[in-house]
Amino acid sequence: MINLEKYEEIKSQLLENVTLVAISKTKPVEDIKAFYDAGQRIFGENRALELKDKYEALPSDIEWHMVGHLQRNKVKEISIFVDTIHSGDSKRILKEIDKEAKKFGRIIKVLLQIKIAKEDSKYGWSFDKLLEFLSSNEFSMLKNIMITGVMGMATFTDDRKQIKKEFKTLKKYFDVLKKDHFGDNFTEISMGMSGDFNMAIDEGSTMIRLGSVLFGERG
Ligand SMILES: *Cc1c(COP(=O)(O)O)cnc(C)c1O
Repeated sequence: MINLEKYEEIKSQLLENVTLVAISKTKPVEDIKAFYDAGQRIFGENRALELKDKYEALPSDIEWHMVGHLQRNKVKEISIFVDTIHSGDSKRILKEIDKEAKKFGRIIKVLLQIKIAKEDSKYGWSFDKLLEFLSSNEFSMLKNIMITGVMGMATFTDDRKQIKKEFKTLKKYFDVLKKDHFGDNFTEISMGMSGDFNMAIDEGSTMIRLGSVLFGERG
């Protein structure tokens, strides 16, 4: 069940510098259309083919974000229209996105997904490896991606303190990267989901990724 009231409530309390990305994965286009009609224009998905199908079925002024781990061979499915890819989690994927964006003469916005969770999450840069890559010649060759910030997923836990600590870590990484490697275009900290977005905002999030609180639980 979609919850438009909750959507309006969250929107009305949102600070100006925080973007709400409505995560519509597994949900039908009718549900997305309902939020679209309520004014929402930014939606995110975690699978390339599902993202492509929904892009084709829905109004063209939607800004589409990819938030899930991307396989290299799927980048081409979304490279013509995707606005921002939150899951820039490896050298190989950044190079592939760059290559595909170039084909269309586009510049695709990408966030660097950094590992902050305690659990052995599969995806995301270790900060050390990331710094090494950012200093490489290889990275400087990528002209068709624009790195606009960072993304992180907190540990799946009820321990609020732990989550808070991880959000603080991501904010710290962001500050270092902005100062030492990027600059004015580096503005986004994508952190916070349905269960922890208020805390994420307190810790500096500029993009919250909300799924179940808007669209209902996924089956
Ligand atoms: C599913 C998903 C979300 C949304 O999760 P909810 O807890 O339903 O809000 C956010 N980010 C990513 C990367 C996701 O895959």
